[in-house]
Formats: sequence, structure tokens, C-alpha cells
Amino acid sequence: RPANRATRIDDLPVRDELRGKSAYGAPQLDVPVRLNTNENPYPLPEPLVARIAERVAEAARDLNRYPDRDAVELRTELAKYLTRTSGYEVTRDQVWAANGSNEVLQQLLQAFGGPGRTALGFEPSYSMHPLLARGTNTGWTGVPRKADFSLDVPAAIEAIRTRRPHVVFITSPNNPTGNAVAPEDVLALYEAAGPGTMVIVDEAYTEFSHGDSLLPLIEGRPNLVISRTMSKAFGAAGLRLGYLAADPAVVEAVQLVRLPYHLSAVNQATALAALEYTDTLLSYVEQLKAERDRIVDELEDLGFEVTAADANFVQFGVFEDPHAVWQFILDRGVLIRDNGVPGRLRVSVGTPAENDAFLDAAREVKKAQL
Ligand code: PMP
Repeated sequence: RPANRATRIDDLPVRDELRGKSAYGAPQLDVPVRLNTNENPYPLPEPLVARIAERVAEAARDLNRYPDRDAVELRTELAKYLTRTSGYEVTRDQVWAANGSNEVLQQLLQAFGGPGRTALGFEPSYSMHPLLARGTNTGWTGVPRKADFSLDVPAAIEAIRTRRPHVVFITSPNNPTGNAVAPEDVLALYEAAGPGTMVIVDEAYTEFSHGDSLLPLIEGRPNLVISRTMSKAFGAAGLRLGYLAADPAVVEAVQLVRLPYHLSAVNQATALAALEYTDTLLSYVEQLKAERDRIVDELEDLGFEVTAADANFVQFGVFEDPHAVWQFILDRGVLIRDNGVPGRLRVSVGTPAENDAFLDAAREVKKAQL
């Protein structure tokens, strides 16, 4: 190797399944309007910022000590939030929290996947599911969705019966397509899966949905897990706080694989402060839902095909060359996302001004007949 050449991953004794791979990540480009990573466009309100500072200061006085390993206060407040917003009573022992729902999902795969086991998902969906499977040495089976991106239930049941996966991922609302999954479809898949399989419903975007959360389905179904996050509806992607609701035995299982003290005291304090401001933050969600519906209406009026939209983003098309359209819109100062879904692009819902900038660019796309 030439002396001036940096060491590459493949020069190291890295695991075979990581050879030749590149790390997950959307481009972080410096453009005026960034609508590419499904973040909440509204910064946290100032009174909440002050409250976070207060609670973090309190936590800082104890930073010589390890944090509450089981995050009991935080899980109690998350359980109250779930109970209040779903009408289904959730208790602290049914809730678990970690650094983003990505870590929750990783812990679930560590507990229920692993070498010699497989996970199954319905694609296109959240690309981290197969990546987390790879990282935990879990095999992966991708089952295609229908042309309208809804679940192909008979094909899903057939795949579950023949492949007998240990973990099934259902993303509702789905990312990147935006559509939600009906409760009866989740139940049909759960029945097909049986006691040898954990069914994980990734509800990262559920607060934006037209329909209700699938949370009440965990009643009497110990193999069903609902995964949630404070990254989207709570506008706190930088916080890194995800959580799950499931049978208490599932919480005990993930406690077998979590790192001790995985959730820092600063993190727990910040999340608790944010939960005090639930009502304010959920009012932003209502504004974002109204803006989402406006984007859908305007894109449809312009003649685009729009996928049923239940999240804080909208998938639209159909384009012969989605990447060229992505670049055309970027040239107009608006960064959206090309997820590699054939013929489609995805735009996150921003502030009204950001959405106007996007819709102006979309109008030009139509004029240019791309
Ligand atoms: N699930 C889905 C479907 C997502 O889109 C995302 C974020 N892009 C996540 C989980 C992970 O979010 P976080 O780790 O921030 O909770």
C-alpha cells in the first residue's frame, strides 16, 4: 500500500458482512430549505429550553454518580403520556427507553434476533431495520409491498409461514412511503407469526397519523412490541430518546442486553422536561398535519401521484428519473430525499414558508415536464 494512502476498512480484520459496505446517512448539505430527514422544523419553545437547563443543572449536581439504570421516573412519565394519548392504560413496567428508537430496535434484535436467526420486513421501508439486523448478525428477508405501497397481506402471511422469522418489522406509518397499516392487517400478521416470532410495530411517526396508534393491540399479545420516539412529534431528534411499549416480559428481555447506564442522566432529565411540555409540542404536530395535508392537496392539484400520507412527510411522483428531479429541486435551494424508491421522491413537512418554497419548485418541475 502506498505510504500516503489512508487505511481502509477492508484493510482491517472487519467482519465479513461489513466488507465493502458504507455507513447509513442522508446527505447533510448546507442549503436554505432542508426537507430531507423528517425532522420537526420547529425549535423547542424557549420556556422548555429554560426548563431543560434547570433539570439538567439538577442532574449535573449528581453526575459523579451513575444515572438511574432503569430510568424509572422517565418510564413512568412515558407510560402516562401513552395512556393519556391512546386511552389504553400503560404501566411503567410495560415501557422501556433508550437512546433513540434505533437503540430500542437494536436491543430488541440483540434479544430476539442474532446469529442463526432472521428478521423480516416489508419493503420499501426504513433502511435501518436491515442494517440493525446486519449489525446484530441477524439474517434479513425483505418482502415487497403492493404497487400502492400498502402491505400485501396474503404475500406477507405466506412469507411469514414459509420463512418462520424470529422478528417481523411493521412500520406504521411507513417510512419512506408515508402510509399507515390497518390494525386488522397487523393482527393477521401476528396470528400468522405465532409464539416463535416477535412482531415489532415501528410507530416513529404515529402522532402524525389520521388514524389511532396500534398500541392497544399489545393487550394479551406478549409477542407484540410498539416502538416510539421523541425525535419526531416531540421535535427532539437531537435528544436521542426512543421507547417501547410491550408486555413486561419484553422489557425484562431487553434488560438482558442493554449496556448498564445506557441512558445518561442528562438525557433522562432532558426527556422529562420535554414531557412536561407535551401539550405545547403536540400543538405543533397539529400544525404540521395541516401543512402535510396542504402539501398533498397542492401536489395532487399539480398532477403528481401522491402516496397516502400519514406521517410528517409526503411521497410523490411518478418520475422517469427521480434523481434528476431531486437535483432540479436542490438547484432551487430545497433539499428533499431520494430514497431509491422507483419513480418516487420524499419531502418532509417544514414550516409554511419552507413548504411554499418546495411547492414553488414542484410547480417548476411540472413546467419543465421532468
Ligand atoms: N423508525 C423510523 C421508521 C424512522 O424513520 C426513524 C428515524 N428516521 C427511526 C425509527 C429512528 O429514530 P430515532 O432513533 O431518532 O428514534
